[in-house]
Amino acid sequence: MLSKAVRIDRHGGPEELKIVEVDVGDPGPGEIRIRHKAVGLNFIDTYQRSGLYPFQMPLQLGMEAAGVVEAVGEGVTHLQAGDRAAYASQPPGAYCELRVMPARSVCKLPDGISFETGAAMMLKGLTAQYLLKKTLPVEGLQSGDFIVFHAAAGGVGLIACQWARALGLKLIGTAGTDAKCQLALDHGAAHAINYSTGGFAAKVREITGGKGVKVVYDSVGKDTFDGSIDCLRPLGLLAVFGNGSGPVPPVSLGTLASKGSLYVTRPTLFTHIATREATQAMADDLFSVVESGAVKIPVDQRYPLVDVQQAHRDLEARKTTGCTVLTL
Ligand code: NDP
Repeated sequence: MLSKAVRIDRHGGPEELKIVEVDVGDPGPGEIRIRHKAVGLNFIDTYQRSGLYPFQMPLQLGMEAAGVVEAVGEGVTHLQAGDRAAYASQPPGAYCELRVMPARSVCKLPDGISFETGAAMMLKGLTAQYLLKKTLPVEGLQSGDFIVFHAAAGGVGLIACQWARALGLKLIGTAGTDAKCQLALDHGAAHAINYSTGGFAAKVREITGGKGVKVVYDSVGKDTFDGSIDCLRPLGLLAVFGNGSGPVPPVSLGTLASKGSLYVTRPTLFTHIATREATQAMADDLFSVVESGAVKIPVDQRYPLVDVQQAHRDLEARKTTGCTVLTL
């Protein structure tokens, strides 16, 4: 069976993204074949395209999608042909109409959640889940606690704003424009700071009465690392989970002592969804906050799959907000 797919033959800019036709076969043991209805775009796709995260070539990009299961391989018991399904998965390969992939990462999509929402939310929503519920300071997080969440108007960011509000956390969101700050506030951030004007740490101190916060969730990396450290109270945790502005250069551990026995972690979703059981438990949590309406998945941009180069350009130029879907 033939499928349109997006591949690169070498790392580089968006111009390296090429539409090709690939032949898709039958699923082997532990695999399924899925026909996509929508594909999610993620910032991590740009790292894999550029070579910040190196891969062997050729590489079919894409880490999340939703669609209908067409066939299941031997040993797959949690899915059957005809099921609506969605996933976030490693290795990449979701930028296509049809693919064969490991069944382990794929979950049945509840009837009340559309394919578009499913495609937009798996990687970003599971990330918000493990950050807010499993990436915690030694003192834990209690209702009423302040946290800082950078790039709060982005895909992961707008989901985190809503989920944090549902958990009773006071999320201080940062974003690059005043309009994006307003969007974060509209989605449940308690405060928003435009970090393009500098000095976000001083503003966080002001908001928290000089105390600082228990956790900073930082996907911006290089440009925000020092300021993020300055937002923390003693025993606070900095979770650097992305490199929007580039990777963080080597750090002197002595800084962590002098600023109050701080913790730093560099987590990745793929540790948390390494088993099918863990993936399903986290997905069930995500499905329940989405079905309850506590978290609405904001799909703010849609591009046909063939316009994937433009989608990458806009994402890297900070022109997008919320989630972006590639349509088929
Ligand atoms: P976003 O929609 O949040 O887009 C990235 C945002 O980062 C931009 O919109 C921009 O917001 C901000 N940004 C800050 N500095 C820069 C810069 N120099 N260049 C480009 N953007 C910049 O993307 P996603 O929701 O897909 O992902 C958010 C982050 O989370 C990414 O860094 C991603 O790698 C990370 N991630 C990590 C995971 C993990 O498990 N470790 C899993 C999933 C995502 P603004 O203009 O407001 O600054």
